[in-house]
Amino acid sequence: MHPYPFTYHRPTSIDDALTMLGEFGDSGKLLAGGHSLLPVMKLRLAQPEHLIDISGLAGLSGVRLDGDVVGIGALTTHHQLATDAILETSAGLLPEIARVVGDQQVRNRGTFGGALAHADPAADYPAGVLALNAEIVARGPNGERTIPIDDFFVDFLTSALEPDEILTSIRIPALAANTGYRYEKLQNPASGYAIVGVAAVVTLTADGKISAARVGVTGAGDMAYRPQAVENALVGSTPNEDSVKAAAESAVDGIELLSDIHAPADYRARVTKNLVRRAVLKAVERAGV
Ligand SMILES: Cc1cc2nc3c(=O)[nH]c(=O)nc-3n(C[C@H](O)[C@H](O)[C@H](O)COP(=O)(O)OP(=O)(O)OC[C@H]3O[C@@H](n4cnc5c(N)ncnc54)[C@H](O)[C@@H]3O)c2cc1C
Repeated sequence: MHPYPFTYHRPTSIDDALTMLGEFGDSGKLLAGGHSLLPVMKLRLAQPEHLIDISGLAGLSGVRLDGDVVGIGALTTHHQLATDAILETSAGLLPEIARVVGDQQVRNRGTFGGALAHADPAADYPAGVLALNAEIVARGPNGERTIPIDDFFVDFLTSALEPDEILTSIRIPALAANTGYRYEKLQNPASGYAIVGVAAVVTLTADGKISAARVGVTGAGDMAYRPQAVENALVGSTPNEDSVKAAAESAVDGIELLSDIHAPADYRARVTKNLVRRAVLKAVERAGV
């Protein structure tokens, strides 16, 4: 199907794009890689009158290590994330996730910032950024602000970004010593999206106890979340198959699970618990104490 007619704009700077966003209001939409927005426009689920193409803007792409924080530009593509050397050593969970996003065409065009702004409940990165304790940097008419990742995903396809803001970068603390990570995904064989995806980041003490654990779950509910009961059960424990399996039992506590043509809720519950168990055990193994 063809989208409704729209006017295409190509701003030359972030300020220029912000001015357009302010001018067009609800009838304007940012366009980055286009791999989520254009499909919904073609299905006529979205009908912006103005597309503001930020894909050519300078300074919004690439990965930089600044002390012990990794900064990633919003326009960095999935392919760049999958192959970046800084990320591989400082936040290897992200390349691991990027490699299982869609297919090569999607990875070449789609952007990290676009994926997070879209806040699709079946997208992969939300699990990872929750587990990595990321911060989102956004610019709007009143300047720049930073949003902790725990406050970023607020509902189905809804993030904490205001309509007149641009997500400019994502900041991630570099992984500490003795920290392991893992992304486990049950993939929809048709689309590649996550029916459920689980990211885990685990730090061990010298005597093999878990000193910190963050887990992110995507695909299971309306939005990505951290199963904090799982994290609480893990911290302080000496992990083994049984203790991690017991902790994973709380993975869907308090969550209203999605039930759709891809998977009913009870199946999603079982998959989520299993993937949490697997992701945590692999993260522990990789923490390598
Ligand atoms: C066939 C196919 C398979 C896919 N498989 C997967 C998969 O397995 N896993 C997965 O996670 N995703 C998958 N995707 C989605 C893909 O990862 C998209 O690239 C991503 O979700 C959106 O990024 P984008 O740059 O394409 O954003 P766009 O489509 O350009 O924009 C998406 C939304 O975000 C807004 N936006 C974009 N950039 C910004 C910004 N900087 N600041 C504020 N708002 C912004 C736009 O206005 C729009 O509302 C798939 C897509 C396709 C077409």
